[in-house]
Amino acid sequence: MDWFWWVLIIFWTGGFAWAAENVRTALRNRHERKLQLLEAAKQERLAIEAAHKPPEPVCGCTHHLAKHDKQGQCHERVEVPTAWDENKRPLRYEAGRCNCQQYVGPQPLSHVFAEDLTDLA
Ligand SMILES: [Zn+2]
Ligand SMILES: [Zn+2]
Repeated sequence: MDWFWWVLIIFWTGGFAWAAENVRTALRNRHERKLQLLEAAKQERLAIEAAHKPPEPVCGCTHHLAKHDKQGQCHERVEVPTAWDENKRPLRYEAGRCNCQQYVGPQPLSHVFAEDLTDLA
């Protein structure tokens, strides 16, 4: 057989495997890059949504602003421990009122209703 055929056979077998491997790697890389892009886009969208959304008006006592009256006192019902074991772990609870005296969470933005400007002239 001519030497040319040997070169061709070696190129076919080795070359094909090499090319296939390269294509596989390239495809995998592209797939990973696409996933990363998707993930980045998702993070960005979540960040934008979070920035536009006002913070939850939740007080330091973990209760919602709506549970506080105008004076700031919290009216949420809570479980107050009435008995403890020797390790200071509460054994019994009694229904009580939250001790919070003032709402300290973020204030929700007041929704101002603006009427359409009417042309008085
Ligand atoms: Zn509170
Ligand atoms: Zn409270």
